[in-house]
Amino acid sequence: VKILWNDQFVKEEDVKIGFEDRGYQFGDGIYEVIKIYNGDMFTATEHIDRLYASADKIQLVIPYTKDVMHKMLYDLIEMNELKDGQIYLQVTRGTSMRQHNFPVPAVESVLTAYTKETVRPLSQLENGVKACFVEDVRWLRCDIKSLNLLGNVLAKQEAISKDCYEAVLHRGETITEGSSSNMYGIKDGVLYTHPVSNLILNGITRQVILSCCEEIGLSVVEEAFTKSQALEMDEMIMSSTNAEVMPVISIDGQLIGNGKRGEWAEKIQVAFEKRIPSSVKI
Ligand code: PMP
Repeated sequence: VKILWNDQFVKEEDVKIGFEDRGYQFGDGIYEVIKIYNGDMFTATEHIDRLYASADKIQLVIPYTKDVMHKMLYDLIEMNELKDGQIYLQVTRGTSMRQHNFPVPAVESVLTAYTKETVRPLSQLENGVKACFVEDVRWLRCDIKSLNLLGNVLAKQEAISKDCYEAVLHRGETITEGSSSNMYGIKDGVLYTHPVSNLILNGITRQVILSCCEEIGLSVVEEAFTKSQALEMDEMIMSSTNAEVMPVISIDGQLIGNGKRGEWAEKIQVAFEKRIPSSVKI
């Protein structure tokens, strides 16, 4: 199995990351997770665009064109003969004597990307998952897919410790997103989700879902909803590259709708399924 390290494909034991790498010391970098279905990247262009957009927002220069990045990722999948799984990639601001400000003179960024086999969470997609409310205490640039994930890590850990799959983050009464997902509520044939802003990550799966909603005739209102409104929704779903279109059946032990995957959730899943490379049946 090969790892992409800058522009080299090397064995895991040959990757050398400095202990003064700014990703390691400051979380000074950005990342992406791209899903592979049947040996093919799903929404690769969107993920690569978001990676470069995140880089721009933190003034980090990625020394490859998007096309070269795309090709390197495809080569990695081929080399590792990956059929179903994911690519994780991150770019840090490089290795330099520890100081908060950017290195002077600038150093080369450090890219690492590797593949991992994963299985789709099919039974959870059918049966739904439990969630709990957790206060969103993250910084105000959640639009950047930054390596600084402590707020997300602590929220997810709280969810797991409560036997939940995901944390529903809220700033005061307003629901923003999940600890590693976007959140949606469906009420009377309308899907509500937090608008794209500095308070959420503009999920690629979110973009696919909004287009699925159009296809199946489910109205979309990109407006935030509150914790109490969440509990009154007919259905709730969350989405991410790995969790896909995941029904949320309870929050803090209170059932959403009838506590089962809803009809709209299933319709969105069917529409989503059609878009993934040579889909397998749920
Ligand atoms: N919000 C957060 C905080 C996330 O970490 C993720 C997963 N990367 C998402 C939303 C969903 O994004 P995507 O659909 O692009 O995986």
